[in-house]
Amino acid sequence: MPLHESDSIILKTYPLAEADRIVVFFSRDHGKLRGVANGVGKPGSRFGASLEPLAHSRVTFFQKENQELVRIRSTELIDSPMRLLEDYDRAMAASQVADMVDRFLPDRDAQDAVFRLFRLTRRSLIQGLPLELVRGYFQTWMLRLAGVLPDMFECSACRRRLAPGDARVLMPGLTRVACRQCGRGEGTPVPPAAVDALRWMMTHTLDARDGPALPAAPDAGGVRHVLQLNKLWMDRFLER
Ligand SMILES: [Zn+2]
Repeated sequence: MPLHESDSIILKTYPLAEADRIVVFFSRDHGKLRGVANGVGKPGSRFGASLEPLAHSRVTFFQKENQELVRIRSTELIDSPMRLLEDYDRAMAASQVADMVDRFLPDRDAQDAVFRLFRLTRRSLIQGLPLELVRGYFQTWMLRLAGVLPDMFECSACRRRLAPGDARVLMPGLTRVACRQCGRGEGTPVPPAAVDALRWMMTHTLDARDGPALPAAPDAGGVRHVLQLNKLWMDRFLER
């Protein structure tokens, strides 16, 4: 039986029988998988913290024919989740991110860009970057990679390019943006501060080497608007 090994982030676990667990993990090479790990809950388990939710680990597993669940044979911890869990708000943000990855990704669909985004987000939370900014950044990119985020810089009706300060509305259905003239009083206005914040997220990466005050990072009000908009898109996506 061929063994597979992949860089992975653990999304969640469920108890199975006795000390065994079902582990949902996002592997870089094979996408989201569900696997059985024996003896995780035993004291002194060889898996240690490597299968705890939000651990970044190299997971070695194999698959039996006609079985949905893979078998996890061994793991190697790359980065422990412990520092994420030291702070309640960061732990909550990290678990929301893991939940979104779980809900947005189909099983067994390797998506390297999403993996890199998740890894960057996880690291940014550990490094103490502003929580709301990291959440907004992750959500915006996850929505964009899932094909949910419309082009915010072109009117979908008259095709005019929209400058950051131009008025625009998100049309009903949330898949199109229009200029004020084409919107004709319909839709949800998108405030300029939200557009600025979205544009920043699309054109910067999160890097703690720049210090906790990221260069020209969007103001907190703009980030809050982005979080509100993202919630509309996320709800829409998840009800499909
Ligand atoms: Zn227009």
